[in-house]
Amino acid sequence: MMNAADTGQSSAPRLTSWNSQQIAQRVERLSLPGNVRLVAVSKTFPADAIRAAYAAGLRDFGENKVQEAITKQAELADLPDITWHFIGHLQTNKARKAVQHFDWIHSVDSLKLARRLDQIAAELSRSPVCCLQVKLLADPNKHGLTEAELWQALPDLAQLSHLELAGIMAIPPYGLLISQAQDFFERAYTLGQSLAKHQETSLPIRYFSMGMSQDFPVAIAAGANIIRLGTTLFGSRS
Ligand SMILES: *Cc1c(COP(=O)(O)O)cnc(C)c1O
Repeated sequence: MMNAADTGQSSAPRLTSWNSQQIAQRVERLSLPGNVRLVAVSKTFPADAIRAAYAAGLRDFGENKVQEAITKQAELADLPDITWHFIGHLQTNKARKAVQHFDWIHSVDSLKLARRLDQIAAELSRSPVCCLQVKLLADPNKHGLTEAELWQALPDLAQLSHLELAGIMAIPPYGLLISQAQDFFERAYTLGQSLAKHQETSLPIRYFSMGMSQDFPVAIAAGANIIRLGTTLFGSRS
């Protein structure tokens, strides 16, 4: 049986230069459905890699460290229409910089962080699009709200008027079988739909940020409309 982790890329050597034609070909080969937004995960790769992907037509870039992103953003200040997505664990003491420097935050993983982001967004007159990162299976390596925590926090989350809390992000634990990954993504999708339909305190959930290089076809089949790909576009990170 195929393991979800085996469908990804081999351990090719890390590239040191990027070519926009090659990236464009890689994107084309994905044959993504028109409703699926591709976030190019540029973490650990230099600004030049982003520049090549931009020339290939990509405009959404994902980073998981605030300072690393700020450095690259300064180098790319001549590219005006990039949408920056924060996808890493965010400590509350970096929340202000994250709101200043990112349009999206995919990794809102606690009520405490959500409240802090909301307060900062109000102060800065910003309105970041946010995804709630959910933890549907026990996973020591992942942050996120469990389903129980999410339902408990829902009335408070629904009050946070300065965030556009419109998405769910879910990352399956490492090493699931494809069938298990599919169940996992379907559960995340269903959870998002239930939050959107909830009577008194609904959230306008319409984004499903699910799927990385190793599992994005499974995620799309389960309803993902945002996928976050690094390795597939830019090559191996290690
Ligand atoms: C690194 C990362 C990705 C991209 O991973 P790949 O396997 O390289 O596609 C996607 N999402 C998050 C949250 C990440 O940290």
